[in-house]
Amino acid sequence: MSRAITFLEVGPRDGLQNEKTLISTADKLELIRRSIAAGTRRIEVTSFVNPKRVPQMADAEAVCAGLPKDGGVSFIGLILNTRGAERAIATGALHELGAVCVSTDGFAIANQGQTSDESVGAAKAIVAMAQDAGLKGQATIGAAFGCPFEGEVSEDRVVAMAVALAEANPIEIGLADTIGVADPAHVSRLVRRVAAAVAPIPVRVHFHNTRGTGIANVWAAVEAGASVIDAALGGLGGCPFAPGAAGNVASEDVIYMLHRAGVQTGMDLQQLIESNHWLAGVMGRKLPGMVAQAPAFPKIVQE
Ligand code: ZN
Repeated sequence: MSRAITFLEVGPRDGLQNEKTLISTADKLELIRRSIAAGTRRIEVTSFVNPKRVPQMADAEAVCAGLPKDGGVSFIGLILNTRGAERAIATGALHELGAVCVSTDGFAIANQGQTSDESVGAAKAIVAMAQDAGLKGQATIGAAFGCPFEGEVSEDRVVAMAVALAEANPIEIGLADTIGVADPAHVSRLVRRVAAAVAPIPVRVHFHNTRGTGIANVWAAVEAGASVIDAALGGLGGCPFAPGAAGNVASEDVIYMLHRAGVQTGMDLQQLIESNHWLAGVMGRKLPGMVAQAPAFPKIVQE
């Protein structure tokens, strides 16, 4: 396969949001700095949510104030409601707002206190707010492959949501396996269907590795035409509102696989591995990502 995908680092937001120990703003900014140094050009830096519900994201404004300003990297704020969009826009530091809607009423009510249809309407409004503020707007469908409360999610429902979101003209539409239940065949079908339904709007994918299928799902998505891949350094992650959700696919594992398979990402794997070790030190434990624990391959010649 000879093609390129865009890599999107979500570690500073999705990777950290469920961590009980508060990570310092300085460490979050160092994670962002390292991610940029490794080649990332789009980074989800924080979310603008109620700090009582997600204490780890209470420093959203402080993170934004500390972002590097030398350009070339698109900083993304995750947004659940118009209040969050107002806060994000007011920072003046972001380039994209990422809205989230959810495929089922059960999860939408737990995640953002609204029905699934209402969450689609809210996401469209957030995309419009981003556009009105001169920023890019994109939208993600959460629990697109299965719901922690309602179980199976129909592909027709997700396709219909994507078509509705496309009316707001987002720069892309994301499909998130929030609780890590997807399998590669499901991913292949849904990415193809959504991509066909919203073309030419690109499709982004977001996988959690709760059941070991995450990396296989990334590959299935790339083959099915997804052009943007989310991942979190070290494979950290979880969702405060999704019982049993585990870490994201690890950035370094995804990049290793894609590079070995001939897919270009513009990323520096060795720097990601070094950043994994740095982040493990910050967290005080080994991280779930596998490539950073393994011997280098092919062998790296030290100068
Ligand atoms: Zn996630």
